[in-house]
Amino acid sequence: MKRKAANQQNLMRIIRLLRHSMPMTRQEIAGELGLSMPTALGNIEKLLSEGILVEVGENASTGGRKAKLFSLQTEGWYGLGIQISRRHVRFALTNLAGDVIQYERISHPFKDQPSWYRILGAKLSDFIGKTDIEESRILGAGISFPGIIDRENDMILHSHVFEMENVSLDRFYKCIPYPLIVENDANCACYAERNNDRDSYLYISLNESVGGALMINRKLHGGNNWNAGEVGHVILYPQGRVCYCRKKGCSDAYLNTGVLLREDENVSEENLEAFFKKLEQGDPETKEIWTTYLDDLAILCTNMRMVLDMDIILGGDVGARMEPWIEELAQRMESMDLFSRDIDYISSCRCKEHIFVIGAAIRAIEHFDDRMI
Ligand SMILES: [Zn+2]
Repeated sequence: MKRKAANQQNLMRIIRLLRHSMPMTRQEIAGELGLSMPTALGNIEKLLSEGILVEVGENASTGGRKAKLFSLQTEGWYGLGIQISRRHVRFALTNLAGDVIQYERISHPFKDQPSWYRILGAKLSDFIGKTDIEESRILGAGISFPGIIDRENDMILHSHVFEMENVSLDRFYKCIPYPLIVENDANCACYAERNNDRDSYLYISLNESVGGALMINRKLHGGNNWNAGEVGHVILYPQGRVCYCRKKGCSDAYLNTGVLLREDENVSEENLEAFFKKLEQGDPETKEIWTTYLDDLAILCTNMRMVLDMDIILGGDVGARMEPWIEELAQRMESMDLFSRDIDYISSCRCKEHIFVIGAAIRAIEHFDDRMI
């Protein structure tokens, strides 16, 4: 029994190693995990026979026999991401690499009422029905939720966006028929950015509200209370604008998407798109709003860099459109940051579309990947 458990563990270690690596040879896998060659070979054979690993070529040889390279098969198993925001629910089914197989956005304004959860379950069932994926191949579902989650007690501790406190996650467990993990939205977005060459960074989510998350050595760093990376409530201007958290001067009050729009405009993808269009066309009023936004963002990013000395990724709806403005932002930061010669630590997120829902699917895949064996 013990031997079986140890074997199971080794199979999982190989899967997790290859998820974040370039293709590897048998020898490299054994070396990296400290396994004896016979143990590594046996486990690799098993994963190949089950279609979890695939052979993807041979490494460049320095003489002698070329060694075969193995990688994780990204098809055949799937993750489901569900993003809950004020007005919409988004579903995405992804393969193990986080590539979207099927996506849908539905209008379903959030209400913490039984009927809302029932309809969510029904809509999800419709969504899955449109794919030809066998349900048993879905490892699990991840929900991206704008709130702080207490995983130990299965609770939403609080959500300012939805004005909720201490709500049990049972409501979600009851309407979603897959193994489920509920995760803070910025944490999900942070997952969507991780890849082979980037494993430690601060993710700043510039959206309807401002959030953030810290990835350290490929793991999300939650802090003592799962509040780590909550950059939205770092104070930029003492005695400044009132934030929704009731403090004054929080970065959220200066950097949420709403500050870019007119007061009578809804925060929507369409209106944000229109803002950036006007900016591109050189509209002076828009340029002025944007200049102030960049000034404030530069303060936040410089402060965060001072504390963490890590790469900073700007994400969310605004961060995803930041590419053409990184240089301007960096110039502002250079004048404040006396420790770094280049501001090359700041970048726009790579995952620019369906960020939260992809991140939620990846989160679920990682959490439930032991269902593969
Ligand atoms: Zn605040």
